[in-house]
Amino acid sequence: MGTIYSFRCPCGYAAESLSVGYGFLSYSTGLSCMPAYCPRCKRVVLAKYRDPLHTSPKQTDADDLQPGICPRCHQQVRYYDDPHLSDPSPTTGKGWDISCGEFRMPSVGLFCPKCKQMTMEAFWEGLWD
Ligand SMILES: [Zn+2]
Ligand SMILES: [Zn+2]
Repeated sequence: MGTIYSFRCPCGYAAESLSVGYGFLSYSTGLSCMPAYCPRCKRVVLAKYRDPLHTSPKQTDADDLQPGICPRCHQQVRYYDDPHLSDPSPTTGKGWDISCGEFRMPSVGLFCPKCKQMTMEAFWEGLWD
């Protein structure tokens, strides 16, 4: 089960309908999908994330989507649970946390790949499985 989010910034940047969390297939590999910032693509991407609490004997070396790698350009990404990618005291509102297993990130005051301000927000869209 995962959750669908959109990310939008007042500057006009938008990342629509990202499916965050575990899908039915990804659960068996212990890999979930988490929002991350790709400095090369300059956009929010979904990168595979290995939950430290969810270990699996299954090897995923054959999977071309390794944890922490951008699915578009295959460079290293930074997950949005990085404290440097969000404003610790956002002025835009209280917001809520996006969390899944050990992963936790705020929903407001997020680093925007376009304007480089801590003004991006997450919007809850629905559930998927
Ligand atoms: Zn990239
Ligand atoms: Zn922006």
